[in-house]
Amino acid sequence: MSAQSHPLPWRRALVIGLGASGREAAALLVQLGAAVRGYDRNPDAQLPEGVEPWLGEATPPTAAFADLDLVVLSPGVPPEPVRALAAEHAPSAAIHGEMSLALELLDRRWPGLPTVLITGTNGKSTVTALIGALLEAGGLMPFTGGNLGVPLSAALRELLRGGRPPPGSLALECSSFQLETMNEARLHPTSAAMVLNVTPDHLDRYADMTSYAATKGRIFAGLGVGGLALLDAEDPFTPALRGQVPAAARLVEIGGDGPDAPRIIGPGPGEALALGGERYDRGLLRLAGRHNAKNALFAVAAARHLGVSQEACAAGLADFAGLPHRMVAVRVVDGITFYNDSKATNVASVVANLDGFDRPYVLIAGGRLKGDDLSPLRPLLAARGRALVAIGESADTFAALADGVVPWAKATSMAEAVERARDYAQRGDAVILSPACSSFDWFRNYAERGEVFTREVLEMTATS
Ligand code: ADP
Repeated sequence: MSAQSHPLPWRRALVIGLGASGREAAALLVQLGAAVRGYDRNPDAQLPEGVEPWLGEATPPTAAFADLDLVVLSPGVPPEPVRALAAEHAPSAAIHGEMSLALELLDRRWPGLPTVLITGTNGKSTVTALIGALLEAGGLMPFTGGNLGVPLSAALRELLRGGRPPPGSLALECSSFQLETMNEARLHPTSAAMVLNVTPDHLDRYADMTSYAATKGRIFAGLGVGGLALLDAEDPFTPALRGQVPAAARLVEIGGDGPDAPRIIGPGPGEALALGGERYDRGLLRLAGRHNAKNALFAVAAARHLGVSQEACAAGLADFAGLPHRMVAVRVVDGITFYNDSKATNVASVVANLDGFDRPYVLIAGGRLKGDDLSPLRPLLAARGRALVAIGESADTFAALADGVVPWAKATSMAEAVERARDYAQRGDAVILSPACSSFDWFRNYAERGEVFTREVLEMTATS
């Protein structure tokens, strides 16, 4: 595509925030022939080639808004102050986030691709990857990404350069930040959209849970006739979210009342995932835990809605091995199994993974706190915890939490944490890195934290 054959609806754009996704959006707009300004308060921010720099001031300067017809917000930037500036200085400019912009441009070039949007506090990446696998199994040639993996703008740039054939469908993970900056008026027509769950996370950013949940509910805005909205009937925020589903769309609740509601049968013999009259053997799914059975129901419901056959769904479920850093059994040493669950960055994900865990375990937890209530971890430790090893800048908080419930120790490095955990563990136990915190105190991200843990575990010498 050239800018001539599909004219860009905007001539002059300002991209606010030049992190990875802002840079992608700016590069996409330059590639399409727009005049692009880039603002960041960091004077050393990196700009893609062809972008006019507006760097260093604490807020975007008024002059940067002159003659604009597009403002792009980056996920890390609180949108309200920028919206106010735009309303004053560029009132006719469209406002988009990176994903919203890419969706609109993609739709102009390849209209009407079947699209599934996925959000929730936990399980987004797992469900997005699983939906991608099911769409692939069904021959729908998906692009799978967004917040997970490749940003949509980056994929679109490559597509427009003719680097690879266009996808046949989209499975897009959306973070709350991306939904906050989704331009509802122009939202890509969506085939299916879902909120997997809403539990406390990012309370350091949102005023309260209701506004956090309402942000997630924006995902339904692009559903029209024939669109499918999916919610979890057991989630406490579902009653509030129902109101955000457009009247024309069909709402299905996982675990809901109707005889056709998707639901989990079991545990026990004949354990299955039920979807209307269809049954998928629970044993097909290689991911453990009730939360993952639910994740699979969301994924199958969406894939069936897009026309993937029952057989292809069953094959896709059986093939899916899960994503890295989510309860991965790294190694068994002296009868102790070490699990990397570094992606568990909040209390709800730790609870989902460890509630009902089948063996005693030593938990390695701590890091940068995000405002979660940690108290649900106490009964969890009381039930099956052997000990706790506290890491990161919140080590004292975690030690206090464990005090009187299980033995605990503090560690000043991951190497020490692994060693202490091994000392506590007995043959047949597990050692689980499931931190309930973000990783930014000691590591670049959760993946680095998981890799360092994995390396330490792999370097241990077995004694028997
Ligand atoms: P996200 O992309 O939303 O962060 P992931 O799929 O990466 O979600 O999983 C993050 C963590 O949450 C992992 O520890 C995972 O085991 C756990 N998890 C996955 N699905 C759910 C769910 N439905 N409810 C609670 N926790 C979950």
